[in-house]
Amino acid sequence: MDPDHLQWMKEAMAMAEEALAAQEVPVGCVFVRDGQIIAKARNRTNQLRNATRHAELEAIDEILADKSLTPEKTTYPLSTTTLYVTVEPCIMCASALRQLGIKEVFYGCGNERFGGCGSVLGVNEALEHPTHPSYRATGGYCREEAIMILRRFYITENTNAPVPKSKTNRVLKTEIDSL
Ligand SMILES: [Zn+2]
Repeated sequence: MDPDHLQWMKEAMAMAEEALAAQEVPVGCVFVRDGQIIAKARNRTNQLRNATRHAELEAIDEILADKSLTPEKTTYPLSTTTLYVTVEPCIMCASALRQLGIKEVFYGCGNERFGGCGSVLGVNEALEHPTHPSYRATGGYCREEAIMILRRFYITENTNAPVPKSKTNRVLKTEIDSL
């Protein structure tokens, strides 16, 4: 494992910790360009009651809204940017990343239920697209940490939940079992 990639993934894990503290599904990410973090974000779906507010899209919104990071209209504004995210991007995020021309993606654990970089669909490169370039997605960086923080979240949720068998718990069970 490349120590540089591990270092960035630790930063992504710190964002996942922040999500956990805010009682969100703990997924965090950082976007890196020219050896620097240009945006970092975490899942905010509960807070905003919006299922599209995944860490990746939160960070992308920030990058595209910042004139210093995205000075002009361009087809692929993320072509020199690498994403580090604790969990494999879902199909929605994997597609958005391709449409914006992301350079490369590194992730922690796979996402057997929703993964868009090979687990469910290979949106990143297996699927042909007439225009959008494919991108490489590599998992396994801080994989155990990424799984453990998800477990911590779902254990807490289970303790607090009046209904013992919530849908989310079943989702996690599936993910962990198949990892
Ligand atoms: Zn997503």
